[in-house]
Amino acid sequence: WFNKSEFIPPDAIFALTAKFQADSSPQKVNLGQGTYRDADAKPWVLPSVNLAREALLTRGLQHEYLPILGLQSFREGTAKIVLGSELFDKRATQIATCQSLSGTGALHLAGLLLRATQNKQPTVYIPEPTWSNHHQVFKSLGFPCESFKYYDYETKSLDIDSYYNMLKQAEPNSVVILHACAHNPTGCDPTKEQWREIAQVMKARELFPLFDAAYLGFNSGDYDEDAFPIRLFMGEMDMEAGVCISFAKNMGLYGERVGCFLLGTKDEQGAVNLQSMLEMLQRSEVSNPPGFGAKIASEVLGNDSLKEQWFQDMETMSSRIRAMRAALYDNLIASGAPGSWDHLIQQSGMFGFLGLSLDVVLRLRDEYHIYMADNSRISIAGLNTGNVEYVARSITECLRD
Ligand code: PMP
Repeated sequence: WFNKSEFIPPDAIFALTAKFQADSSPQKVNLGQGTYRDADAKPWVLPSVNLAREALLTRGLQHEYLPILGLQSFREGTAKIVLGSELFDKRATQIATCQSLSGTGALHLAGLLLRATQNKQPTVYIPEPTWSNHHQVFKSLGFPCESFKYYDYETKSLDIDSYYNMLKQAEPNSVVILHACAHNPTGCDPTKEQWREIAQVMKARELFPLFDAAYLGFNSGDYDEDAFPIRLFMGEMDMEAGVCISFAKNMGLYGERVGCFLLGTKDEQGAVNLQSMLEMLQRSEVSNPPGFGAKIASEVLGNDSLKEQWFQDMETMSSRIRAMRAALYDNLIASGAPGSWDHLIQQSGMFGFLGLSLDVVLRLRDEYHIYMADNSRISIAGLNTGNVEYVARSITECLRD
């Protein structure tokens, strides 16, 4: 039965993490996987999450199945925070939500729903570069996927003209993947004005916005600011949209797989029908989603003082990342790294897109024990005051040779 099966190489980022873990050098630095690290390079459990977990344990935790659509209080809390209370109140009866296996599961559910509801499977337009899993998720569901130029490697910035051109030429009824904020890997997002233009063209051309929202509140430290494009499309522009929400980064709940797919429709019956379809699709995929992480997130979202603490926690993480971005820039300049590094401080979010050649990336890995993705994307959270100078100096040495 299986003699035609081929070998699929391991996922590059997970393989890089395994390589880093196997490296015995005391100097090693992990700038690969996008997971938050504190100033001592340790994983960080958010104080708000710790408090929520304690409250759950004190009240007594059960391990029953969740409903197929997930924990109701979590779904509602998520919709409220993503849309903001004003828009939530306005559209509450026009949205369908389904708890998902983190952001990846939300994208997958979105794909399942689009496949089940459209006459012909729409083309999915995906920015180039993008998070490595986008193509895989949609290809595995049989969607035709098209890359569009998002980033100009010469100017090291967002190529907004190519973006607009793609939108103007895309076949109507196609899907466009939009990174809501903190574009992975480039760290370059459209400005508010550019988002307006994107929304207008998409509305006029009947393109479906599918937001990948993995970094809300984690990007700028201000949740409302990061959710701006979602609220613009669904509020001011009154568009239908899908939002794939992850709490992996902004709550540090990586392994609990806490996420939600939210669909904004135009009518109440449509929302009811789509939610029933999501329920059917979820049932055949995972039966019902995991409980523990969703209970923690729901506790944080539903309790004013925990929510306040969570906002502070997001600020703690995003401000440390911003400080490390600035420190890397300063150290690159101080060590005389050739070329301009302005792109680094113009980017935002968890990643820095350095613009190094593969030769340099591999040399940094092999000779200096500094691990980053092959495309020279670094997870800035892996930097701290103890290693940032070493990283900058090593980059400079490799570029000078
Ligand atoms: N989208 C983007 C752009 C991401 O960077 C990530 C996390 N690396 C995800 C989605 C989903 O991650 P998760 O499934 O862990 O929530």
